[in-house]
Amino acid sequence: MIPFNVPPVTGDEMKYIGKVIAAKKISGAGHFTKLCHTWMEERFNAEKVLLTTSGTAALDMAMLLCGFAPGDEVILPSYTFSSTATSVVLGGGTPVFVDIRPDTMNIDEKKIEAAITDRTKAIVVVHYAGVACEMDVIMDIAERYRLKVVEDAAQGVMSTYKGKYLGTIGDYGCYSFHETKNLSMGEGGALVVNHAEDVGRAEIFWEKGTNRSQFYRGEVDKYTWVDFGDSYLPSELNAAYLWAQLQHAEEIQESRVAAWELYYQLLSPLRDVGKIELQIIPKECQHNAHMFFIKTQELQERTKLISFLKEHGIMAVFHYIPLHSAPAGKRFGRFSGEDICTTKESDRLLRLPLYYGLKSKQVREVCAQVEAFYQR
Ligand SMILES: *Cc1c(COP(=O)(O)O)cnc(C)c1O
Repeated sequence: MIPFNVPPVTGDEMKYIGKVIAAKKISGAGHFTKLCHTWMEERFNAEKVLLTTSGTAALDMAMLLCGFAPGDEVILPSYTFSSTATSVVLGGGTPVFVDIRPDTMNIDEKKIEAAITDRTKAIVVVHYAGVACEMDVIMDIAERYRLKVVEDAAQGVMSTYKGKYLGTIGDYGCYSFHETKNLSMGEGGALVVNHAEDVGRAEIFWEKGTNRSQFYRGEVDKYTWVDFGDSYLPSELNAAYLWAQLQHAEEIQESRVAAWELYYQLLSPLRDVGKIELQIIPKECQHNAHMFFIKTQELQERTKLISFLKEHGIMAVFHYIPLHSAPAGKRFGRFSGEDICTTKESDRLLRLPLYYGLKSKQVREVCAQVEAFYQR
C-alpha cells in the first residue's frame, strides 16, 4: 500500500527529545525553542519568529495582532483550510471570500480590489501547495488601501517568491508544523513577525499577556500581566522534534522535490494528450514540493479515479470543500463577486502521495496506475 502521507522522521528526534527530558525542562520557551527561532530567523531572513502550538494558533495570533473591530472585513480565498477563516472570526473580523486563480489555486489578485469596502482591514493570502501568491500585486494593493497582509504560509515553509521566503513578505506570516506538512513537530507552527515594532506585542500575546520575554532578557526586573494574551508556546518536547527536522531540512526538501519532479515527468504525456492537467508553477516562485496534484476533467471522473487508485493500494485524496459553501462559512462570511473557479477547480483537484522518503519506485507505481485508469 502507498499511503497519502507519512509524517517525517529524520532519526535525530529521540536524541533531542532525550536531552529535553534529561534537562528536566519540558515546558516551552527553552533551549530548543530558541534554537528553532534563531534557525528560522537566519534561514528565512525574518525579523522575529515565535513557535506556536499549531499553524492555527499562529493565524490566531496574527489576526489578534491586526486588531479588528466589529464589522471589519478581511479578504481571503474560499479555497483554504478552515483555520484561515476561524482565525479571522476569532479575531473579530468578517471573512470576505474572493475567487481563486485556476493555475495556482491561490487567491486571484485581480479580484481583490473589487472586494475592498471602507470596512476592509486586511488580506489573508494562502500560498497553496507552497506556491506563492502574486505578492507584488497584493502588497501594492495593501499599501494603497492601508491594509494588513497576513500570509498563511502553513504549506509554504522554505518556498520563495522572487527570492524572498514565504511568510516574510506581508506583515505576519504563519507556518504549520503539523504531521502533514513538510517539516513537523507533531502539532505546532510558527508566527513570523516582519516589523520590529510589532515584536514586543507579539511576545506578550505569546506569553499569556505577560512581559516575561522582556524579563528573561533582563529588560524589566519583574514580569506581570500587561496586555491581552493566550498560551501559544509549544512544549520543549515538540520543539526538540522540530529541531531534528530543521537540521535535516535540505534533505527533506530534496527528497520531496525529487518525487515531485518524477511525478511531473511521468505524468506529462497524459497532460499532453489532454487527459489531465498538471500544476503550473509561475517562474518567480520556487516551491517546496509540499504537494503534487493533478486535475481531472470533472468531479465524477475524480471520484472514480480515487476508487480505482484505492483498489490498487494507492491513497490519493481531494482537498478543501470551499469555505463559502460550508455551514460556518455561510454564517460568518460572504463571497465577493462570482465563484467562477473556486468550486469548479476544487472539484477537479486530486492530490497524489507525497512525503519524505517516498521512493521513485512508488512514484512510478502511482503514475502507472493513473495511466492505467485513463487507458481503460
Ligand atoms: C495545515 C494548514 C493550516 C493549519 O495548521 P495546523 O498546524 O494544522 O493548525 C492552516 N492553513 C493551511 C493552508 C494549512 O494547510
